[in-house]
Amino acid sequence: MNNQYQELFDSQKENQYALGNSTFRERIEKLEKLKQALEHGYKQQIREALYKDFKKPHLETDLTEIYPVISEIKFVKQRLKGWLKPQKVKSPLVLVGSSSYYVYEPKGVCLIISPWNFPLNLTFGPLVSALAAGNTVILKPSELTPHIARVMEDIITSIFKPNEVKVVQGAVAETTALLQLPFNHIFFTGSPQIGKLVMQAAAKHLTSVTLELGGKSPTIVDKSADLKEAAKRIAWGKFVNSGQICVSPDYVFVHEAIKADFIKEMKLVVSEFYGANAETSASYGRIVNAKHTGRLQKHIQNAKDLQGTVELGGHFNADENYISPTVISNLPEEATLLQEEIFGPVLPLKVFKEISEVVSYINSKPRPLALYIYSKNKSQIKYISANTRAGSMCVNTNVLQYSNHNLPFGGVNNSGIGKAHGLFGFQEFSNRKSVLKQFTRGSIELLFPPYTDLKQKLVDLTLKWF
Ligand code: NAD
Repeated sequence: MNNQYQELFDSQKENQYALGNSTFRERIEKLEKLKQALEHGYKQQIREALYKDFKKPHLETDLTEIYPVISEIKFVKQRLKGWLKPQKVKSPLVLVGSSSYYVYEPKGVCLIISPWNFPLNLTFGPLVSALAAGNTVILKPSELTPHIARVMEDIITSIFKPNEVKVVQGAVAETTALLQLPFNHIFFTGSPQIGKLVMQAAAKHLTSVTLELGGKSPTIVDKSADLKEAAKRIAWGKFVNSGQICVSPDYVFVHEAIKADFIKEMKLVVSEFYGANAETSASYGRIVNAKHTGRLQKHIQNAKDLQGTVELGGHFNADENYISPTVISNLPEEATLLQEEIFGPVLPLKVFKEISEVVSYINSKPRPLALYIYSKNKSQIKYISANTRAGSMCVNTNVLQYSNHNLPFGGVNNSGIGKAHGLFGFQEFSNRKSVLKQFTRGSIELLFPPYTDLKQKLVDLTLKWF
């Protein structure tokens, strides 16, 4: 097979055992270099690149791109030694004369494919897990944020040899070529649609996959909720990064009795956050490109055509890839805003009378990456939690589950396969190898052929008592 990346792949394949045998200290040293590059060497370049890519405010870059990777490195640094130790397990009596443990060994040559919405965080975050586990890695960042992709390549080239970690730039053709190679693991973050293509390609080599996907994450606000607080958190979750967040609240279900008050609070909080016109606010970002701006404009137009009520915003400036913070209610179910993942600063609002309607609605859709409930009613929260399925859930907040490294992060079915962050990310890039050591002759020898009546009696006893 003539593959443009074969040579690179082979060099990593050859190096995988040397790298896999690296000590805890050697791995930490590399992670520390990456941390230094983010904290000091390349911080300003990262900020400028993300501003060029989609006017990401510097503070948001520090908080949502640089900080999560640094804190992931710190988390791993404190725990990696323990994770790398053989984990002893008990042995049943029939295995007398042996001991057992399992150990995390690196999977080998890994591919990380990342999206554009948090391009640094979602490329280097999984990289930290992969390196901690002792793998070689090829990174394929998104082509839609080329400035930061270039800076990431510079950072990687300054720390790693190509047979350890290498950035491959490119779009569909390049990723398709990479996907033909027999990687030991693929970690993909992106849309469910492309996730299916990745899984199909991986199936050819029975390569394991982690798929961090997206979808429509529901938010529920019931009558008992603190409306001011709920509106503030929902507005932040929906409008930070202009709604281009996999775990942002996609749509909101509000109890009909509090609809007007909730909308009033949303209007107030949006003007507090971004002033009278978000377009002139230094705290509000842009949509990544003209294609995605056009996609969101079409959603808003479709909502208007179907007599939806624009409660807030609905403005755009296509030349600037600007879409204002927007809330739209009274949408019929066929509205595209209720059918597709929005991935932008537009919040459809639905009303409900009984919580069971909400649960049925959510369960009629693919399983979401996140589910958010604003309520003070414990039994209502318990009911929703017990009768729905989601990758993660927050009560009285949103998005923040991403930043707790002690929690597994990922979806379920259509929203993803496998988990990231902390120990869970490390496990994703590791093979849990079982080891059984025989140190005396053991009971099994009593059962070796030829099978005699006495041995049959021993088996009968074993089945009955052990
Ligand atoms: P995408 O699926 O279009 O692209 C992701 C990556 O796949 C990019 O690197 C891209 O170059 C590559 N790609 C695109 N088309 C391809 C093809 N035909 N064959 C092979 N590779 C291809 O996703 P996106 O637009 O970059 O990101 C948005 C999506 O990502 C949303 O659905 C969002 O919810 C999801 N997302 C999920 C998470 C998570 O952690 N679960 C985080 C961020 C984004």
